[in-house]
Amino acid sequence: ETLTAVSPVACFDYALRLFQTRLRDSDVEVIRRWPDQEAWVRADLVRLEQVLVNLIGNALQAMADTPAPRLELSVEVWDDRVVLGVADNGPGIAEENLTRIFEPFFTTKSSGKGLGLGLSISSRIVDDLGGRLSAANRPEGGALFTIRLPRDEGRR
Ligand code: ADP
Ligand code: MG
Repeated sequence: ETLTAVSPVACFDYALRLFQTRLRDSDVEVIRRWPDQEAWVRADLVRLEQVLVNLIGNALQAMADTPAPRLELSVEVWDDRVVLGVADNGPGIAEENLTRIFEPFFTTKSSGKGLGLGLSISSRIVDDLGGRLSAANRPEGGALFTIRLPRDEGRR
């Protein structure tokens, strides 16, 4: 596996492209918070894109019955790390499930709607990149998934 300097913003754009039609036909507001300066992470573009697709897909599913659905995507540079965020204003995650959602085959979705593999695979991908995937509920409601990855100097 070859790790290179990957732009998380470009990676979000790739992932969003897959949801283009679904987003256009829905009333989901997409908010992007990108850093002023271009940031790079040391990653595999395809695998990181897969993680973002999983997280965005989950967020959209979670907001299926949310009146004013909002998907908030962010990239922040923290010293030697870059932090990617995928947040929604859906129902959030039940406290008792917060530690279980990363287990393989854990799902709260009715049969056929979810295999329960997305987060366990995503978590392993991020671990393999030397990073960490975590989940939290936001005080204002909804779930927030955070991906921390080592920063790369990039191509300057
Ligand atoms: P699946 O989507 O197939 O259920 P995942 O591994 O992607 O499997 O997610 C596991 C579980 O985590 C989901 O069934 C759901 O209960 C919870 N979950 C994931 N993302 C969200 C979210 N954005 N909001 C609320 N719950 C979530
Ligand atoms: Mg999923």
